[in-house]
Amino acid sequence: MRLHQLVKDIHFDDPIWQERHTITRPEQLREVLDEILRPPALDDMIAGLHKASMSVRINPYLLDLINWQDMEHDPIRKQFLPLASEMTASHPLQSFDALDETTDSPVEGLVHRYPDRALLLVTDRCPVYCRFCTRSYNVGVDTRSVIKIRAQSISHRWQSILSHLHMTPRIVDIVVSGGDCARLKASQLLEIGRGLLTIPSIRRIRFASKGLSVLPMKITRDGAWTDALTVVSDEGRRQGVEVSLQTHFNHPIEITSSVLSAANLLFTKGVMVRNQSVLLHGVNDDANVLGRLIKHLGDLHIHPYYVYLCDPVPGIEDMRVDLATACQLEKAVRGLTTGYNMPAFVIDTPGGGGKRLIHSYERYDRYSGLSTFTAPAVKAGRLFLYPDPLHTLSPDARRDWLDPQRAKAMVTDIQRQSA
Ligand code: SF4
Repeated sequence: MRLHQLVKDIHFDDPIWQERHTITRPEQLREVLDEILRPPALDDMIAGLHKASMSVRINPYLLDLINWQDMEHDPIRKQFLPLASEMTASHPLQSFDALDETTDSPVEGLVHRYPDRALLLVTDRCPVYCRFCTRSYNVGVDTRSVIKIRAQSISHRWQSILSHLHMTPRIVDIVVSGGDCARLKASQLLEIGRGLLTIPSIRRIRFASKGLSVLPMKITRDGAWTDALTVVSDEGRRQGVEVSLQTHFNHPIEITSSVLSAANLLFTKGVMVRNQSVLLHGVNDDANVLGRLIKHLGDLHIHPYYVYLCDPVPGIEDMRVDLATACQLEKAVRGLTTGYNMPAFVIDTPGGGGKRLIHSYERYDRYSGLSTFTAPAVKAGRLFLYPDPLHTLSPDARRDWLDPQRAKAMVTDIQRQSA
């Protein structure tokens, strides 16, 4: 079916219909966008998807949000449908698993980096796949450039994860993520939530799902899933455990009437919702866009608590934003709304140092684009490096990064200065 037919379908607001009509192969776009895009642009997009680290997965709801008259600059298209012509070479310091999650994993599917917090990876699937995903090493299906690391299904790992959590009472805070909790069955969501509530030491549970922003009808129309979340939230509250939904909006255009209904439903059911945004070049690296997003989220009772610099994973160099721009943006938006609704701008430090406020760097070399951070409460004595994207550096610096000897010297220099 072509896009205009999909949009008019009477089942458009049904999440199961959306899943059934989700694009999962680049070539499917030829039929859907046939009347909208000319062949060179379509070929550019399909070539981009073949080069990308993330497989394509985009539903009619999101396709309908894209302004196809100006698709090169469209913030939704940029997040899900890369053009080969806009992709640039990866930074030499980029790596899959940039956050080193696999080495901080005591049990398969559980990342335990901070003393009192853990990340539970329950699925490697999402309703849609973002091209800048941190977990491009395991989320989604294999692509031409990335063979994904596969975990056993959560049902096989669940008992050993629960046992580990029971035996590790210093863990009081759990993020249930993946992948995306919207891809869990309602029964799985309930089992995981209730299982975590049996662990006396756990005080906070956060379910991560981008569903609210990319498939809001999941919340309003999949009553079993939303009820499961509400039940866990209510049972948690009775036990003194805070249960919340952690979602992911990047641009105010994503806040549609369907999102308003879904957010309102969660609010009336007493489910706390927090938002994490990723700062993306050409999407939201603009004070006006970010300011509107933060204010809209606050009005929906969605707490906009983090804005991340994009993790340096391969294949997304053109989307990353440099630290200096991020610092300017943070200054520009701070004060636009009440303080508790103002997000913290952070870098999730490559190498496993955890999140650091962007202004807290030890050193920042504007020539090499390298900044350093320390994380005494997480990994004392270690220095963590964050590289600005190559496209923000001078031609000389870009040339230096291509020379392995010069690249090594730039890293050594800033490490020495930061010691
Ligand atoms: S929804 Fe989250 S986990 Fe899934 S692809 Fe996007 S960023 Fe990655």
